[in-house]
Amino acid sequence: MNFIPLMVPSLQEEDIQAAVKVMRSGMLVQGKEVEALENKIETKLGVRNAIAASNGTATLHMALVALGIGKGDEVIVPAFSYTATANVVELVGAKPVFADIDTKDFNINPQAIHPLISRNTKAIIPVHEFGLACDIASIRQIASDHHLFVIEDAACALGAQQNNCHAGNFGDFGSFSFHPRKAITSGEGGMLTTNNEQLAEKIRILRNHGIQYNNAKMDFVEAGFNYRMTDFQAAMVASGMDRLDEIIQTKQALAEIYFEFLDHPLVEVPSVPKYRNHTWQTFHILLHERINREKIIEAMKVQGIGVNYGAQCIPAQTYYKNKYKLNSKELYPNAFRSYQQGLALPLYERLKKEDILRIIQSLSNAISNQC
Ligand SMILES: *Cc1c(COP(=O)(O)O)cnc(C)c1O
Repeated sequence: MNFIPLMVPSLQEEDIQAAVKVMRSGMLVQGKEVEALENKIETKLGVRNAIAASNGTATLHMALVALGIGKGDEVIVPAFSYTATANVVELVGAKPVFADIDTKDFNINPQAIHPLISRNTKAIIPVHEFGLACDIASIRQIASDHHLFVIEDAACALGAQQNNCHAGNFGDFGSFSFHPRKAITSGEGGMLTTNNEQLAEKIRILRNHGIQYNNAKMDFVEAGFNYRMTDFQAAMVASGMDRLDEIIQTKQALAEIYFEFLDHPLVEVPSVPKYRNHTWQTFHILLHERINREKIIEAMKVQGIGVNYGAQCIPAQTYYKNKYKLNSKELYPNAFRSYQQGLALPLYERLKKEDILRIIQSLSNAISNQC
């Protein structure tokens, strides 16, 4: 029986050829391919500026630096996400303040944000978790009431929309990733979007060693980073972008198969609000408390299926536990439960209906053997 991995990157021969062509040209680092990709994403998302970077952590890091967030500042982040969302706050010397999530869609709960706002709060980083846009309207309202910046962590959510507006347009910044686990990949890669010209200019300077060009003369005006994307990666992503809608539609059709056939009293499937499209970076379920998730992962692996946990309860990770000593189970019960009992099931372009039926059968068997 063939092994069904958790993820197979959406990479086609034409994407590889696009990268190879650029490699042969000898023009490797940030150049015209990066610029072409930025234009392509600006058009696709309807955003004024897209700035390519080396990955989706670099983009978040630069966003915080550009907004002047640092020591003494607090930034509200969801308690359940990939840890990078909070790590970048630590990197600029600010303090991440965790908000619990909703287990229906695994996104930050706007209700949980209010009580966390203090005099030091400067920004919110809502995550569009697993490819579904969060309740961004409520978050924008809170942000404008309290004069806070919003950085959308849309690492998993390229192509996600809400009321027909693309993720990446809702905040001061939108941050995307092209890691192999995301919809489109160049191995490593990231994109930062903003509708603010001054912020865009600042990011372009920060990305490239702090260099500003005045009449073609180089001036170093910031202690910047090297967070550039290479031109061959840009060509790969640009090639993948041509299939973005198709990739999302394929994954939506596959998710429908899960919804149709995955019906188990001890399994909660995710819900999708009507006015948002799910781009299905991950199909994430919740197992009943009675089930030992680790044993399910092991049992399914033996049956040739790769499943794993979906994201972390960040304050429960060693670094954060040691530093902030927060009782995650009490303070963030939904994030904690999603971390303990959550399971990401395979979902990628090349998955077949038979594969999904086999995954569901295997899950059901693994649960039966435990309960
Ligand atoms: C993947 C991911 C990141 C980090 O992106 P990289 O490109 O791997 O650095 C950040 N936030 C979230 C929510 C992610 O899923």
